Amino acid sequence: MLDIVIIGGGPIGLACGLAAQKAGLSFVILEKGTLVNSLYNYPATMTFFSTSEKLEIGGYPFATPHLKPNRTDALEYYRRVALSNELPLHLFEEVTGVEAHDGGYTITSTKATYRAQRIIIATGFYDISVNLNIPGEDLPKVKHYYQDPHFFTLQKVLVVGASNSSVDVALETYRKGAEVTMVVRGSDISSRVKYWVRPDIMNRIEEGSIKAYFNSNLKAIRETEVDIETPDGMVTIPNDFVMAMTGYKPNFNFLKKIGIALSDDGKFIPQYDQHTMETNLPGVYLAGVVCGGMDTHLWFIENSRIHAEMILQDIMKKRGQYADQ
Ligand code: FAD
Repeated sequence: MLDIVIIGGGPIGLACGLAAQKAGLSFVILEKGTLVNSLYNYPATMTFFSTSEKLEIGGYPFATPHLKPNRTDALEYYRRVALSNELPLHLFEEVTGVEAHDGGYTITSTKATYRAQRIIIATGFYDISVNLNIPGEDLPKVKHYYQDPHFFTLQKVLVVGASNSSVDVALETYRKGAEVTMVVRGSDISSRVKYWVRPDIMNRIEEGSIKAYFNSNLKAIRETEVDIETPDGMVTIPNDFVMAMTGYKPNFNFLKKIGIALSDDGKFIPQYDQHTMETNLPGVYLAGVVCGGMDTHLWFIENSRIHAEMILQDIMKKRGQYADQ
């Protein structure tokens, strides 16, 4: 029986692996996609809001000439850390079930079955998009993930939302020759938008290069046009692509199926001890951004990498081998 199975090979799953390795425990990391799958699927041009040292795991320096690292820098860093430490990674292996047995758990994946005393769930929130629930959302021209702006050259692009992702899409596609319109539910661009990007989008909107409907909602999508409810009434505009940057959410069905309690306030925040990260299931821990439920902005790499140490301290304490003894 393994000491730990870690579900998710993102930055925080890797941080947990490094902490488990340091503690001398047996473990595997099961990852349903490629290494740091979420980061791999981020926009090709994406720049982190964090400086590189705030993204470091296991104490390994993240060296980059950029003040704010980009996706390529981060992929290089996490891959080098994972491979040079020979972390036991099983990639393209999705965990589909977890069952408690006397003194441990059975973990079923798409490729094998494992027995472990403890489980760390570090599955993030990037796999499932938050839907608009409007007619036409199923059309192939509607996208919740964005990779590269070139694709949208000379296209009429509607960007839904006013977050970092929405603003990046709007500015980048505009600069590659798209005709960009934004639909924003609130009255302004989010104050959480990267401080060096916010003036850029505000100025583009003010000068009219990018059209923005504030206090507005997208109501329907058709092959060649969209309906937007604005304070001045319904507006229909021609459209080629809808970039629905409406956020992402953790896989609540997976958490529920395992038996993890979720809050009933509509935020579906998983139940866990804030000091140990242990859930309502003994020996099952949460790490990283999965902890936030629908409040996906609460946790990020910067402030959740510490979960790895917290969890390993609790595990070692409960094994009677607390490192400080
Ligand atoms: P993830 O990186 O999402 O890792 C979870 C992993 O679990 C994924 O690889 C997934 O494939 C895998 N998985 C899911 N379900 C299963 C399963 N059933 N079986 C096996 N594997 C599974 N944070 C910062 O600190 N600074 C930033 O500047 C920053 N910029 C960001 C920019 C963007 C565009 C986005 C979307 C996020 C940003 N974040 C930033 C947030 C940060 O990237 C995420 O918080 C980070 O990826 C979280 O790490 P994680 O390991 O908790 O989750």
